[in-house]
Amino acid sequence: MRAYIGLGANVGDAPGTLGAAVRALAALPGASLAGVSQLYVTRPVGGVDQADFHNAVVALDVPAGPDDETGALALLVALKGLERAFGRRARERWGPRELDLDLLLFGDARLSVRRPPEGVSLDPGHRDRLLVVPHPEAADRLFVLAPLADLDADLVPPGWDETVSTARDRRLAAEGAAAVRAVGRWTGAGWAPRRRL
Ligand code: AMP
Repeated sequence: MRAYIGLGANVGDAPGTLGAAVRALAALPGASLAGVSQLYVTRPVGGVDQADFHNAVVALDVPAGPDDETGALALLVALKGLERAFGRRARERWGPRELDLDLLLFGDARLSVRRPPEGVSLDPGHRDRLLVVPHPEAADRLFVLAPLADLDADLVPPGWDETVSTARDRRLAAEGAAAVRAVGRWTGAGWAPRRRL
């Protein structure tokens, strides 16, 4: 099953963290790396005064599981484990992040999984849904759309009425090119500065 995972960080050595996270994703049991977007610097959203983010998106082929929900939840649990391993602490929503991993797409699955009552989240704003796929905010976020378009510009995610590149161009027109800047490309081991054209 082809999954797309959004990565973000804005604390410490964000490019180094994202590089290590790509390698950690590739090393998940049964997973194989199918693509890595460019590395982007993006303006924070949500109005909290904080450092710019670095973002990227990874295409990862993962075990499908007995059904979409089980497979996607297994991947979400792995992502949360990696976030913890990279030192993420519970903080304010939209605030600084050591490492944020979002499950953007899980094949063509559309999922909305309720959180069990005992599994209350520390993250405000995400209390009732354990997992929503496609990620509900992906369609409006340049920091997702720009790197996702690097990997599959023509993809129309389930429930969307436009391609990833059309959505990216719409947001670029609204926010301006300075909102998201490509600064690196994946070499297989880490990020190299983006070549000037
Ligand atoms: P975030 O603040 O983005 O790290 O998300 C916090 C919570 O959102 C997590 O604990 C997840 O249970 C929940 N969540 C719902 N849908 C998703 C998704 N597609 N990817 C990642 N987290 C999700």
